[in-house]
Amino acid sequence: ETKEDVDKVSVERNSEEHIETECLNNVDHFIKNKLRVWCRVANGGEWDLGKLESVSGDAACVMLSSTEVVKVSMEEIFPANPNILDGVEDLIQITYLNEPSVLYNLRVRYSKDLIYSKAGPVLIAVNPFKNVQIYGNQILLAYQNKALDSPHVYTVADAAYDEMMREEKNQSIIISGESGAGKTETAKYAMQYLEALGGGSFGVENEILKTNCILEAFGNAKTSRNDNSSRFGKLMEIHFSAKGKICGAKLETFSFDQSRVVQLSSGERSYHIFYELCAGASPILKERLRLKVASEYKYLNQSNCLTIDRIDDAQKFHKLMEAFNIVQIPQEYQERAFALLAAVLWLGNVSFEVIDNENHVEVVADEAVTNVAMLMGCNSKDLMVVLSTCKLQAGRDCIAKRLTLRQATDMRDSLAKIIYASLFNWLVEQINTSLEVGRSRTGRSISILDIYGFESFKNNSFEQFCINYANERLQQHFNRHLFKLEQEEYEGDGIDWTKVEFKDNQECLNLIEKKPIGVVSLLDEESNFPKATDTTFANKLKQHLKSNSCFKGERGRGFRVSHYAGEVLYDTKGFLEKNRDPLHIDLIQFLSSCKCQLLNMFSTKMCHKSLKPATISDSMNQSVITKFKGQLFKLMSKLEDTTPHFIRCIKPNSKQLPGLYEENHVLQQLRCCGVLEIVRISRSGYPTRMTHQELALRYGFLLLDTEISQDPLSTSNAIMKQYNLPPEMYQVGYTKIYLRTGQIGVLEERRKYV
Ligand code: ATP
Ligand code: MG
Repeated sequence: ETKEDVDKVSVERNSEEHIETECLNNVDHFIKNKLRVWCRVANGGEWDLGKLESVSGDAACVMLSSTEVVKVSMEEIFPANPNILDGVEDLIQITYLNEPSVLYNLRVRYSKDLIYSKAGPVLIAVNPFKNVQIYGNQILLAYQNKALDSPHVYTVADAAYDEMMREEKNQSIIISGESGAGKTETAKYAMQYLEALGGGSFGVENEILKTNCILEAFGNAKTSRNDNSSRFGKLMEIHFSAKGKICGAKLETFSFDQSRVVQLSSGERSYHIFYELCAGASPILKERLRLKVASEYKYLNQSNCLTIDRIDDAQKFHKLMEAFNIVQIPQEYQERAFALLAAVLWLGNVSFEVIDNENHVEVVADEAVTNVAMLMGCNSKDLMVVLSTCKLQAGRDCIAKRLTLRQATDMRDSLAKIIYASLFNWLVEQINTSLEVGRSRTGRSISILDIYGFESFKNNSFEQFCINYANERLQQHFNRHLFKLEQEEYEGDGIDWTKVEFKDNQECLNLIEKKPIGVVSLLDEESNFPKATDTTFANKLKQHLKSNSCFKGERGRGFRVSHYAGEVLYDTKGFLEKNRDPLHIDLIQFLSSCKCQLLNMFSTKMCHKSLKPATISDSMNQSVITKFKGQLFKLMSKLEDTTPHFIRCIKPNSKQLPGLYEENHVLQQLRCCGVLEIVRISRSGYPTRMTHQELALRYGFLLLDTEISQDPLSTSNAIMKQYNLPPEMYQVGYTKIYLRTGQIGVLEERRKYV
C-alpha cells in the first residue's frame, strides 16, 4: 500500500461519511453509482456482497456477485465499503460501520493470517488454531526496534513497556474473550515479549513463562470448548527495575473451579495433572503412590475421555517436573503434592454400602480407603468415620450421626475438592515465593489479566452472573479510560470536551451492587433465610428492582439483565445453594489431624490460627458472591492504578479448526465484547481530525488574500465560516481542527460547487 493509497482511503472514507454510517438510506446514490451492499437472503444466514438494482417499498432487488438477482427485505441490506477499504488494520477506518462490514473486514485479514486488528484503542486477536509465523525472536526484535508496527500483541506489550518507562506509571494488559478464544496464549506471548525486553539481570524472567506450565497442569482441563481451558482467572504482575529489567513478579488467581475434580461432563477431562501423573510417573513413584492407570479412577473415567489428540501426557509430566525445579519447589514437597493428587484419585474410588432402610451408609473398607489413608497420613478407621458421619452438638455433648448415601458421597467429594483447591492455592503461593526476588513498588509494573469474557448461553446461571458482573466492571473501567484518552487529546489541543457524549453502564452496576437493594445484597439476604427458595429469590428481585431500567422480571424463576454487551436471561435455579457453599468443619478438623504437613497447613489456612483450631474465620462466613465482589473490587482498584491496554480475543469457530471463519459465531463475540460500540465511541465526539495545514491545503483555495493569515488557527476559522459549517459541528484546536461525523462530506460537497 503506497502513501497515495492511504490518502485515497482517508479521502474516500471522509467524503462518504455524511451518508448514514449504520444502515442504507441513500438508496438512489447506491443504485446510481453501483455501490456495493451487504445483503442476506435468509435471516441469520451469511452475508453476501451485491449491487442494488431497484427498491420498491420494503423490498430490494440485489444482484449478487454470482450475478444472480435476489429479492431481499431492506432490513437485511447494509451499505458495504469501497473495496479499497477491504481488510484495513483499524476498524475505525471503515466508512460504513455495520456488522457485516466489520465481520468482512476481520475475515479478509484472517484469510491472510493477519490475526490481529485494531478497533480504536483495542487490539482484536482472532485465534488462528494453527502456528502462524508471527512470533519468535526475530519478529520480536523487529517490533522492539519499531521496524514493525502492525497490530500485534507485541505492539501492545511494547506500548505498555514504553509508557511504563517513560511515565513511571503502572500498566495493565487486559485480555478477555470466550473460552478457547486464545486469552492464555495471547497472555503468554505478551509475557514472552516483556521477558525479552526486560530480561537479563535478575534471573526471574525465565521463571515467569515456566510458571504457566505449572498453572496449566493444575488449573487447565479439556472441555468441550477448549482442549486446554483455564478454569480460573489470573493476574500476573511483572515488576521492573529503574533500568527496565524484570526484577520480580506476583501471581494472583480468581474463582478456581473445584467442581471439575469430582464431576465431569461427557467428553471432558479433569485437570491435566491427574492424567500426566498417571502417565508420566516413574515406576518407583507409582509404587510409592499406589498409582494405577487413569482409567482405573472413577473421577477420571466417568466422562469417557482420557486422552487429548496430539497431547502426550507423560511428556507433559516431565516438562512439569522441570518447571517445578525451576520454580524451586523442593523435591520433598513435590512428592507430597503428588501423594495428595493420588489421594484425591483414590478418594473417588471410595464406595459406600447402605446399611438400613433409611439409606444410611458405611464406608466399604477396601483398597481405596487404605490407599487414601496411607497417602493422607491418617488412620483408615478415622477416615471411614469422617466420610460416613457428621458431628452434631446436642447440649454439651457431641454426637455422631450417620449420613445417607447422598450425604456421604457429598462429604467424600467435598474432601477431594478441598484438598485439590488447597493444593492449587499452595502452588500459587510457592510460585509467588519464587518470583518474589525484588519486587519494586515504584510504578514500574505491567499486569497481565487473563479472565473469562462476557457469557450469554441458552441457560445462564450463577456462574454466568458472576462472570458478567466482573465484565461489567471491566467495561466501566474501559469506558472511563477511553473517555479520559479522548478528553486528554481534546484538552491538550484546547477544545471543549464536555460536548462529547459517552455511554455509561453505571445503571447496570447499580442494579447488581447497590446497597441495600441490588442483586448481590438481595441474594445474600435470601441465602441467609432458611426458608427461601430460588423462586422467592426471583420474586424478591422483581419486587425491588423493577424500577431499574436494566432489569426485567420474567415469569417463574427468571430475570433479565441488560448488560453492556446485550441482554441475558438468568435462571435463579441453584443461586442460593451456590452462594451459600457451606464449609465442612468436620473435614477441616480431620485435615489438621493427618500426618501430612501440607494437609495441616491447608487446614490452618482455613481456620483461625488462634484459640480453637476449627472455628471458621470471618472471610469463610462470607457468601460466594460477596467474596467474589470483594476480590473484584481489589482487582479493580489495582487496575485503576494502571494505564490499561485492552485485547479482545475472538474464537472464529467452535470446532477449534484452522481456516474456518463462522460468521455468526464471530458476530456474537463482537457483540459480547462491544466491538462496534468501541469503534462508535472512538468515532463519537469529533472523529475527523485534520491539521490546520491540511485543511488550508484542501479547502483554503477560495479564501481572499486578506483572509489568509499567518496564523493557521485563524485561517481555519475563516475557512469554516466560508463553508458555512454550523459551529456545533466542529471545534478549532491549537494544532488541529475537529469535525463531527459526516462534516467532511459536507465540506467535500460544497467544495465541488463553490
Ligand atoms: P479458556 O477461557 O478456555 O481458558 P483461552 O481463551 O485461554 O480459553 P487458549 O487456551 O489461549 O484459550 O487458546 C486455545 C487454543 O487455541 C490453544 O491451545 C491453541 O491451540 C490455539 N491458539 C490460541 N491462540 C493462538 C495463537 N496466537 N497462535 C496459534 N494458536 C493459538
Ligand atoms: Mg485460558
